[in-house]
Amino acid sequence: MKVLVKKHSTPGLWLEDIPEPKIGINDVLIRVIKTGICGTDVHIYDWDAWAQRTIPVPMAIGHEFVGEVVEVGSNVNDFHPGEIVLSEGHVVCGRCRNCMAGRRHQCAHTQGVGVNRAGAFAEYVALPMTNVWRHHDGIDTDVAAIFDPFGNAVHTALHHPVLGEDVLITGAGPIGLMAVALVRHAGARHVVVTDLNESRLELARKMGADLAFDPRQLSFADARKQIDMTQGFDVGLEMSGAPPAFRDMLDNMCHGGRIAMLGIPSQEIAIDWTKVIFNMLTIRGIYGREMYETCYKMAVLVESGVAISPVITHRFAYHEFEKGFEAMKSGNAGKVVLSWKVASWRCTAAFNNTSKPFLTASAKRGFTSPSVSSPRRSGRISE
Ligand code: NAD
Ligand code: ZN
Repeated sequence: MKVLVKKHSTPGLWLEDIPEPKIGINDVLIRVIKTGICGTDVHIYDWDAWAQRTIPVPMAIGHEFVGEVVEVGSNVNDFHPGEIVLSEGHVVCGRCRNCMAGRRHQCAHTQGVGVNRAGAFAEYVALPMTNVWRHHDGIDTDVAAIFDPFGNAVHTALHHPVLGEDVLITGAGPIGLMAVALVRHAGARHVVVTDLNESRLELARKMGADLAFDPRQLSFADARKQIDMTQGFDVGLEMSGAPPAFRDMLDNMCHGGRIAMLGIPSQEIAIDWTKVIFNMLTIRGIYGREMYETCYKMAVLVESGVAISPVITHRFAYHEFEKGFEAMKSGNAGKVVLSWKVASWRCTAAFNNTSKPFLTASAKRGFTSPSVSSPRRSGRISE
């Protein structure tokens, strides 16, 4: 199968042919339909210090994907060929204290798909059934391909109640942009976004921000005046990882304000802690998604009108991955989606993003398996 591999300990990725993965009795084999390129993949491509410390070479990378179940292990009863699924990007141990208590997203022994176990920039990926989640019928596969970062946005944006609140989002990368749509949908009063990149600020306005500005060009005091805000922000979503952005946020929160912090700083950040103490701020770190409450919320939010597809600015075929990484590195892209449609496949409802449900009723119930002898070649997504 085709796969994007970190083959050598140098910058770049390599498109290789390797054998398809074998599944164990508890695993699901998924044919990848589309993938999203994440900032993490760019770190791996560039082979920065974090990647050198973290990524075993050679390894298939990638973790944002939507795929179709093609084969299941003998212990797997509730997934069936033809179903459109995602996998949680963190494979958890199932046995540590947090896993046993149902807090799997806080597992102490988590492994990252495409980080320290085989990834999804591949025609096929094999994963434990406990990591797989079935999409609702009719999901747009472009949107489904970016459920992983959408989940980060949902987990962060909805952590603190935003109904009627004034929300500051620092960083209008893809996750910050999706957060704009989310807090708008969830009833925030003012939604204000900062970034240093004008094309991203423009996207933030399109996603529904009342005000999106570059803090080097407009002061927060003047920005707040423009929208008649007399107090600070009630809720802050830190989505840049940039130390100046976090300090801006601390300076502009109201007393008792609540911050959810997703952005990953590349270095330690020194802050004036007296602002946190005297203003009684709450700062909550957010990692990944909640298994699988966030998936549920994402599905129903999409169904109830949260539109995240404007965040997707570039689409390429898998073999054009270099163009995708270039777009990511340009700083002007939102999400970049790669299609893994391979010429030999017959089908294609999902690839074509039909608005019809993907599955026939019988397939949904798991009663059909058109090519049991060789299911992964069936190419079936819908009839
Ligand atoms: P991104 O890098 O595309 O976006 C970050 C944005 O912040 C950029 O548009 C950048 O211009 C902007 N920025 C830089 N300095 C700024 C400043 N001083 N003020 C305002 N904006 C500034 O990233 P993304 O993919 O949208 O992810 C957002 C953040 O979340 C990143 O830091 C990423 O590493 C992190 N992340 C965390 C998790 C987690 O589980 N905690 C998961 C995924 C991503
Ligand atoms: Zn665990």
